[in-house]
Amino acid sequence: MVTVLDPADLEQPIRRAMPELARGVATLARLGIDTVRDALWYLPFRYDDFSDVRSLGELVPDEKQSARVTVAAIRVEPGFGRRPQRVIAQLTDDTGSAEAIWFGRRYVERRLQIGDEVIVSGKVTQRGWRPQFTSPEFSPAGHDSVHTARVVPVYRLTSGVTQKRLRELLARVLDRGLAAIDDPLTADERGTLPALDHALRTAHFPEEAADVEGALDRLAFDELLALQLTLAQARAARSELVAPRIGIADADFEAIVAALPFQLTDDQAGAVAEIREDIASERPMRRLLQGDVGSGKTAVAAIALASAVRAGWQGALMAPTEILARQHHAGLAPLLEQLGVRAEFLSGSLAAAPKRAIHDAIAGGTADVVIGTHAVISEAVEFPRLGLVVVDEQHRFGVGQRAALQAKGARGEPHVLALTATPIPRTLGLTVYGDLAISTIRHLPPGREPIRTEIRDRRALPKIEAFIASEAAAGRQAFVVVPLVVESQTLEAASAEAEADRLRARLPALRIGIVHGQQKSELRDATMAAFAAGDMDVLVATTVVEVGIDVPNASVMLIEDAERFGLAQLHQLRGRVGRGRHRSFCILLSDATDEVAVRRLEVVRGSSDGFVIAEADLALRGAGNLLGTRQSGLPPLRVASLFDPRHVELAQRARDLADGIVHGDPSLSRRPLLARLQRDFAPLEDEGDAA
Ligand code: ADP
Ligand code: MG
Repeated sequence: MVTVLDPADLEQPIRRAMPELARGVATLARLGIDTVRDALWYLPFRYDDFSDVRSLGELVPDEKQSARVTVAAIRVEPGFGRRPQRVIAQLTDDTGSAEAIWFGRRYVERRLQIGDEVIVSGKVTQRGWRPQFTSPEFSPAGHDSVHTARVVPVYRLTSGVTQKRLRELLARVLDRGLAAIDDPLTADERGTLPALDHALRTAHFPEEAADVEGALDRLAFDELLALQLTLAQARAARSELVAPRIGIADADFEAIVAALPFQLTDDQAGAVAEIREDIASERPMRRLLQGDVGSGKTAVAAIALASAVRAGWQGALMAPTEILARQHHAGLAPLLEQLGVRAEFLSGSLAAAPKRAIHDAIAGGTADVVIGTHAVISEAVEFPRLGLVVVDEQHRFGVGQRAALQAKGARGEPHVLALTATPIPRTLGLTVYGDLAISTIRHLPPGREPIRTEIRDRRALPKIEAFIASEAAAGRQAFVVVPLVVESQTLEAASAEAEADRLRARLPALRIGIVHGQQKSELRDATMAAFAAGDMDVLVATTVVEVGIDVPNASVMLIEDAERFGLAQLHQLRGRVGRGRHRSFCILLSDATDEVAVRRLEVVRGSSDGFVIAEADLALRGAGNLLGTRQSGLPPLRVASLFDPRHVELAQRARDLADGIVHGDPSLSRRPLLARLQRDFAPLEDEGDAA
């Protein structure tokens, strides 16, 4: 009988808590396993189901199974050259015979003797007239084993550690360590999910294959709960803050909507209704409005801003760059004007006198809406009645940035509406953006012509250049995006310069401009503005155009070495064209031949739906790569999988539970085990300031 460990032992080094493991401690350390807790949570990445025990006469070829056999003969064939040593055993039982073969496994010959009764477990193939086990696991018959005749865990290894050894060590840690597990969840809270000790036992050594799913669900749930607790705390901290109640009369609201030059799509109307409800509450709105480029987000933002102003408040719209801010101003000001709302443009680059005048107008309350770069808020501008801030973020923004935004409300909190053109798959929405409300515009306004997307290799370049020239002759414009060089902006800029030179030589009649990240932002902005104004035919660019500008006259988007880009990114880039009346084209240039690369590009060609593409990107590359973990603000999840639909539901449950718990106990002082869980999974490592 083993003596079991106490809860306090969980955090102990194994060396201290289980000195009897002796040299096993060093083996575990090779895998980064130090404490008892580390070992318990060192989970298999897959399982071999050897639970079918059959007699040799009943073995089924090409399946994993087990048999209880007697070793009738054993022979070692020495290796030579590159061929490893082979151990071949003849196995028998009452019903027949079989062979087992191992390659380069020295321990086999030491552990197997003629006459031994053993259980063998492994994959069986038919060799001539009899079945053969290839590199099977084996153990003495008559004893329970962690290696045979059951569902067997398979762990990630490192050099000097074997599956067998690790399995045995982890089994011993589980035997003593599981008793130390206190479930952080009550029976009510976990519902149909298994208790934690049971889940851990099953995740390592399931009784049956069917039990694994539930066990891993439980462990995933804990991880998602840790994340949701953090997000719930951020929400709770925010609920202490008070925002203006922006209530707008139905008649005023209808007048605003009626003044638009078009009818709202159903998705837009839905988003508007959600926003209207949010801002009528004194709880500060934190809403993300997501929809493809051109789906009509700006129109929704305009209605929200006009509503705020009608109700007596000021509004602000912030864009990431000066040129985008100018475009917003150019597009929104006339629209807002019709609604009796004055929109000022404010930027750091304004001369002192006009800037002063705008500051005064804002402070005096005569400026209704201010549109500008992020400087709008960070500069010392006094908004006496700031009610709503719209943030136009081309990239999704992480928890840290959201926290910074929250800190911006000087007196009372403004409501915040963030616009993003990067669709967020539902799983991510719930897990990573659990502190934000999300509105989605899924369908574009009617009457858009789809962009024709083609995949071509470099041999097609001359034809493509001729096509760009013919479009230019028809008065259209083209973007040429040079290959992404993640490691070096300098290299990327150099390749943009080289490509622009090449094109200038090939197409001397065309006016060709260039933008890249190594340029001064004034030069970049000026070039983009010139392109937008139609003073250039071709804009050679690095991905800086992604945070780009509206050029309705552009009809061609050529993306070179397209396989290097994320799918969401390709979709974003494509969205730069097809914004006007002209038939538009996106050409994905790629010489890649590997299957995944080709399939990825075909996803983009085959769909114009940013959500479909984002989901496919997730499935093909894994969540971490969606935009790069850092960039996308994704937490590093271990058990939970952001592209497992079952975990969507778990994330929702975790969110509800976290809200309930945090509501009654914001600092988790009454739930130390949950506080511990939250720390262990540290889902938002560098986001300590999240609340
Ligand atoms: P986004 O901000 O999502 O990129 P915009 O709001 O700028 O999209 O809209 C893109 C274009 O579609 C604009 O020219 C806008 O006037 C137009 N638009 C927006 N909503 C509608 C609608 N419901 N019906 C027709 N056109 C619309
Ligand atoms: Mg827009």
